[in-house]
Amino acid sequence: MKPDQFPSEMQPYAIPKTGGEYLYRCLGCERRFGIEDLLYTCPECGSVLLIEDSRWERLKDIPGSKWRSIFDYRAMLNIPALKGIYRFHELIGSIIPLDDIVFLGEGHTPVVCANQAMNDWAGIDFYFKNDGQNPSASFKDRGMASAFSYLNYLINKRGVRNILAICASTGDTSASAALYASYLSGNIKSAVILPRGKITPQQLGQPLGSGAKVIEIPGVFDDCMKIVEYLSENFSVALMNSKNAWRILGQESYSYEISQAFDYEVGHLTVVVPIGNAGNITAVMAGFLKMHDLRIIDSLPHIIGVQSEHANPVYLYYLEPKEAARRFRPVTVRPSVAQAAMIGNPVSMPRVIKLVEQYRKIAGEGSIRIVEISEQEIMDSMLFANRNGHIACTQGGECLAGIRKAVAEKKVDRNRRAVLDATAHALKFAVFQDKYFLDSFEPEYEVSPRAELRNSPFSLDLPESVPNPASQRLGPEQFQEFVKYASSIIADVLDLEQRGGTRKPQ
Ligand SMILES: *Cc1c(COP(=O)(O)O)cnc(C)c1O
Ligand SMILES: [Zn+2]
Repeated sequence: MKPDQFPSEMQPYAIPKTGGEYLYRCLGCERRFGIEDLLYTCPECGSVLLIEDSRWERLKDIPGSKWRSIFDYRAMLNIPALKGIYRFHELIGSIIPLDDIVFLGEGHTPVVCANQAMNDWAGIDFYFKNDGQNPSASFKDRGMASAFSYLNYLINKRGVRNILAICASTGDTSASAALYASYLSGNIKSAVILPRGKITPQQLGQPLGSGAKVIEIPGVFDDCMKIVEYLSENFSVALMNSKNAWRILGQESYSYEISQAFDYEVGHLTVVVPIGNAGNITAVMAGFLKMHDLRIIDSLPHIIGVQSEHANPVYLYYLEPKEAARRFRPVTVRPSVAQAAMIGNPVSMPRVIKLVEQYRKIAGEGSIRIVEISEQEIMDSMLFANRNGHIACTQGGECLAGIRKAVAEKKVDRNRRAVLDATAHALKFAVFQDKYFLDSFEPEYEVSPRAELRNSPFSLDLPESVPNPASQRLGPEQFQEFVKYASSIIADVLDLEQRGGTRKPQ
């Protein structure tokens, strides 16, 4: 739809105008810094930063109901810059002009209703929001669209040149960063630092295919992170990890979309997210808080963060009920099928602590919970979801295992509706499906397959006497003989009935 076809009272808002004043805010010392320089930590105290709009209050001149209409009408526009996360331009990066926005098809991922079998199994009615349907097949594209749009703005409007975008990754950050960098390849090069042997072949193939410089190092993600932190402090590079606050801003779109998908009535929802470096849960909380602050939603949904027993520092932190007694301690991770979340020292932990406090103040102590699940539960849950129409990856399985456990332990009311973050596409983690089906998990994973969830191909072998199209060129009669023989075996395997309703003679 064209903007001039909108009702006249909506026309002035159809296309967002640039505005606001964005600043980095330090979560340690509360100092503010301009965004002209790329900052990842506070130059004064070293803490992590968030981005805020110092003119945020101006947005309250528009009532919540009007914002709802604005975002709903914008969904009908066919302007590429507004097709993705920047539908919510005023909340996500209002200083960035539309012609600098990079849109590769990210955002607006479907919310898919679980079937009855799944609801029964989980003990609650739920949906998956399929963030695996983003361009690089994970939610990371939301944050990269934001971070790279900002870089593109610096290139176009501030004359910045020769940017090297760099990140550490458990697999999906690098796939996404490399994809967005390749789109801006004239001005941006990308390098990714990966823990050797700790990402899947599909995830390794993605940045290679996008032309990034891929550097594998011995160690785990936390070690890679230390290296890129050192590089970003000592060399001129653009850090694309979620330590970069632009990433968080873009990932807030996940909450905006859920709000819109449920007609802005989200108080009855429980949103479930896996926690790794904790950028995602930070963004999800921040997004709902912003919508609530502008009265676009009247009440906040509950949020459950899920961690594996093999990488559980956030869970351990919140195990202590008394706020003053909580101490954050990094953990040494063990091998996890939720490999994208296999992080022992989450960079966004200070952000989480601040936002959880803020969130609970508004929505109550029980509004945010952290749940821990086993590797076995993650695998069983993912495969069960995959068998019931969902493309959830292991981290999506982690969410399903998490909500199921929370329901079983009565930590969530069954009358609520859950929205599970299927953070990536199952195909990226096919190796774990293979290990399960072949019962070849290394003992450290502590996963053994349940017979009813396993599957393997049936391989049809032909006896010597039957013509075989793989070993010779067959004439028409031989070919017919092959088809008949193969079909009879397959009919047996599938237990098919003869046409006409009579059972085929044995
Ligand atoms: C990055 C990632 C996570 C973890 O998100 P954080 O922001 O690091 O907590 C979970 N699942 C998938 C598929 C990911 O790529
Ligand atoms: Zn500071």
